[in-house]
Amino acid sequence: MADPKGFMTTPRHDWPRRPVEERVKDWDEVYVPGALLPIISKQADRCMDCGIPFCHEACPLGNLIPEWNDLVSREDWRAAADRLHATNNFPEFTGRLCPAPCEAGCVLAINQPAVTIKNVEAAIADRAWELGFAPPRPPDRLSGRTVAVIGSGPTGLAAAQQLTRAGHTVAVYEKDDRLGGLMRYGIPAFKMEKRHLERRLEQMRAEGTKFRTSTAVGRDVGAAELRTRYDAVVIATGATAWRELPVPGRELAGIHQAMEYLPLANRVCEGDLAASPLSAAGRHVVIVGGGDTGADCLGTAVREGAASVTQLDIYAQPGAARDEDTDPWPTYPKVYRLSAAHEEARDLRSAPAADADARLFAASTLRFTGDAEGRVRSLHLVEVDAERRPVPETGRTLPADLVLLALGFSGPDREDGVIDQLGLELDPRGTIVRDAGFATNVPGVFAAGDAARGQSLIVWAIAEGRAVAAAVDRLLTGSSRLPAPIGPYDRPMRV
Ligand SMILES: Cc1cc2nc3c(=O)[nH]c(=O)nc-3n(C[C@H](O)[C@H](O)[C@H](O)COP(=O)(O)OP(=O)(O)OC[C@H]3O[C@@H](n4cnc5c(N)ncnc54)[C@H](O)[C@@H]3O)c2cc1C
Ligand code: SF4
Repeated sequence: MADPKGFMTTPRHDWPRRPVEERVKDWDEVYVPGALLPIISKQADRCMDCGIPFCHEACPLGNLIPEWNDLVSREDWRAAADRLHATNNFPEFTGRLCPAPCEAGCVLAINQPAVTIKNVEAAIADRAWELGFAPPRPPDRLSGRTVAVIGSGPTGLAAAQQLTRAGHTVAVYEKDDRLGGLMRYGIPAFKMEKRHLERRLEQMRAEGTKFRTSTAVGRDVGAAELRTRYDAVVIATGATAWRELPVPGRELAGIHQAMEYLPLANRVCEGDLAASPLSAAGRHVVIVGGGDTGADCLGTAVREGAASVTQLDIYAQPGAARDEDTDPWPTYPKVYRLSAAHEEARDLRSAPAADADARLFAASTLRFTGDAEGRVRSLHLVEVDAERRPVPETGRTLPADLVLLALGFSGPDREDGVIDQLGLELDPRGTIVRDAGFATNVPGVFAAGDAARGQSLIVWAIAEGRAVAAAVDRLLTGSSRLPAPIGPYDRPMRV
């Protein structure tokens, strides 16, 4: 804490976003390039070094936040990078994509705006790359043991990096043509440019991790075969079985799942397609689902040039401040948040049918109607109360010729056959059952990330990857010095 009065003298200042009119014309990250570094040391100075850092507890990775705030305020980037990488394999991902439960738990946030922890994390990570403080760290010697990791999302990548660095020979199997899981084809580039992913993958290759893309385990290579070829198998296949909306008219053309729509837009950015076959250009778009996936569809549709965009959220609009009874500090509160995509929709007024930021709250879809060609044309909705009962006289019709369903995911996709070929036990939610040591019911097979936890966040996925690596290392060598930041049953802090 270079300045003990920093929290009293310096107001919170976030990494500024580019003007809306400028950023919706491209797919680059929404932030002003180069604008973070000049402000970040003063922002880190706002950390009070409060003694019992709840931020550290609220971060699933156990990031050493007060330590690196102090180092950044002193501009000791090398030490800050070391302390950050001690707990987080991919801080440039979380520094851009994490919803920052740490900031909700910041002691300063009891009665003032929290320290910009996520921004400090991004600044350290970016600086570490610029200054050469994130070199490949190959192991000193090999253990002679082998591990197959199925899935290259943040869980699989974190597990693979930890196990490779521990000396094991690791191969990551990925059914997509490119690596990264949802960070590749789900999350749009305006939230995180793919160059961050490529740089880490290069680092991992240099450390010795092997990657097998376009290889679906279960179809292209048998899951049971992998079990016999490797000393251990980690299943990190994510939870991509999407939820449906069983209402009349669902079969009409023009109604798609968010994860049918977003990958195509990402493929345009990757240069695979000249234009998305599902482009929102010139269309009235309605997004059903009020979460982050819906917001990603919103930002994408705005950039594609939609005629209008409306996002439906079944929950009532949350308040501006935390409800101290249901969401007391230091838990992560349900409050009204304006994401970059919502800010764009608000400023562009691209949602004439909805509220100012394109969202309609407490809205439940009743049915779709279409034209003579069987294409969707309208969405009919009603307002609902807290028990999701329709409120009389609130029916409403929105023009809709592209509807995107962003209703969440129920568990791992079973189509490839991994679960059935190995005979893995599932819980009633459809996620893979594992014991306190991340082991499934099949000896030598471990499960981690969204496939076992259910749909979650990148910070949890990285924590899962690190923890499962420690469990696998223990199996292979009898003990492990790898850190395990979470257990399989840990969940976010709640009342
Ligand atoms: C649109 C969207 C936006 C999101 N935005 C955010 C955000 O901003 N911040 C945040 O924290 N979280 C976000 N999330 C959630 C986050 O992306 C996930 O929690 C996280 O990616 C889960 O990591 P994972 O590695 O467990 O699974 P995934 O990222 O889903 O990766 C699983 C990988 O396994 C591969 N795979 C599956 N089956 C096989 C097989 N049989 N053989 C080979 N490979 C296979 C898949 O192709 C995939 O690459 C978002 C999710 C979505 C859908
Ligand atoms: S990973 Fe997320 S919770 Fe942890 S310090 Fe970074 S922003 Fe905060």
